Amino acid sequence: MFAEGWCPRVGDARLLRQNLCVSETDLPPEGPKTTVLVTVTGRDKPGVTSLLFAVLSQHSVSLLDVEQVVIRGRLILGVLIAQVRNPATLTAALVEAMHGVDMQVDMTIGANGVHRPVPTHAVVILGSPVTAQAFSAISAELAAQRANIDSIRGVADYPITGLELLVTATGGETDTRLRTALAEVAAREQVDVAVERAGLARRAKRLIVFDVDSTLIQGEVIEMLAAHAGVEDEVRAVTEAAMRGELDFAESLRRRVETLAGLDVSVIDKVADAIELTPGARTTIRTLRRLGYHCGVVSGGFRQVIEPLAHDLELDFVLANTLEVVDGKLTGGVTGDIVDRAGKAAALRRFAAEAGVPMEQTVAVGDGANDIDMLNAAGLGLAFNAKPALREVADAALSHPYLDAVLFILGVTREEVEAADARDGIRRRVPLD
Ligand SMILES: [Mg+2]
Repeated sequence: MFAEGWCPRVGDARLLRQNLCVSETDLPPEGPKTTVLVTVTGRDKPGVTSLLFAVLSQHSVSLLDVEQVVIRGRLILGVLIAQVRNPATLTAALVEAMHGVDMQVDMTIGANGVHRPVPTHAVVILGSPVTAQAFSAISAELAAQRANIDSIRGVADYPITGLELLVTATGGETDTRLRTALAEVAAREQVDVAVERAGLARRAKRLIVFDVDSTLIQGEVIEMLAAHAGVEDEVRAVTEAAMRGELDFAESLRRRVETLAGLDVSVIDKVADAIELTPGARTTIRTLRRLGYHCGVVSGGFRQVIEPLAHDLELDFVLANTLEVVDGKLTGGVTGDIVDRAGKAAALRRFAAEAGVPMEQTVAVGDGANDIDMLNAAGLGLAFNAKPALREVADAALSHPYLDAVLFILGVTREEVEAADARDGIRRRVPLD
C-alpha cells in the first residue's frame, strides 16, 4: 500500500506502551510537518475504524491514502496522513484510543514518497490443491526475476483454489521472462500459472470464443456420430492419421464424414441430446454474459449438433461445418467452406469485427492443434487441457477439467460469481470427487 519512509522512533517513554511499535530514532519534537503512516491491527470488531477516524478528526489532519483489509477476522487498517505538525501528540492520542479497544498500533513517522505501487503483471495460480511448497517456489521465482509482490488475494476456493498476485516487475522483457520462468515452476509444482499484463487492458476483454469439442463440451461429436453409424474404428484410424500429420484437418474431416453416409438424420438430435457440457461451462458463459461479453463458439464439428446448445447458452456467434442431408439421410459430405485451423482464426476476427471489439480485447479458448491460429490471433489465448502444440502458443494453459478456471484468469472471483448467482436464485456447488 505505502512506500517505506524514514521511521524515527518515539522517544517519549510515555508512548512506549505494550501495543505501540515504532522504530528508529527520536521523533521531531515540534517542527516541520511530516507524513505519518498509522497501521492498526488486531481482531476485527465493530467501531474500530470509526474510533480511529474520530481521533484523527480531532487533530484536523488530511488523508493521503486509506486501505483496510479483514483476513479471517483480523483487521489491518492503514492510514497515511499528510502534514502532521506534532506526531507525538497524535501518536499518544491514537495509542490511547486503540489500546482501549485492544488493538495494536504501528506509527511510521515521515513516510514520505507516497507511492502506491502500480503493478505491471497479474499472476494467477490455480491448483487442486495449491501447496505451500508450490507457492513458495513461485514467490522465490518472482524474487529471482526481480518482480515484487504488491498484493495477494484469493480468487477461488471452488472447484479449485485460485490465488491472484499483483506484481511489479523490473528489468527488460518482463512478459516473456516471467511467463517462461513461471511456466517451468508451474509444471514442476503441478499448478497452473497465468501471467498477464495488469491494468485496464486485463479488464477490457469483451469477446470470448470457445472451441467446442473437448473444450465447451466433453468428448468429440464426430465420434458420437460414428458410434451411431458403427464406424468408430474407421473414424479413430483417420483421427490418428491426422494426429500423425499424415492428413490435414480438412482432409481428415472429409474422410471421417464420408463414413457417416446413409445415417438417418434423427441421429443428429440424439447426439445433440447426449452432449455433456464441460463442468463450469454454464457458469462461465452466464457470468461472462453478465459482464457484457459477447460469447461465441467456433468448431470443426457440426452446426446441426451445436446450434441447439448455442441457443440454450444464448451465444452471440456460432460457426461450424454443415453436414449435408438429402432425403432425411446424411450424404457423407459437408456443404460450404470447411471450418479448419485458419477458418477458426478468421471466424474470431469476423466475430470481433461484427461486435466492434478490437482483437486485443478478445479471448479464445481451445484444446486442439486446429485452435493454434485462433489462440495466436486472440488478445488472450487460453489452452484448456490442451495438446502440447497448443500449450506452447497459449498465453496460459489450464490443466484442470473445470471451464470456470477461465473466469479466475480474467480476474473474476468465485465470490463474485456466487453473489451474482444468488441474486438470481441460483445456488449450486456440485460436490467434487
Ligand atoms: Mg477441441
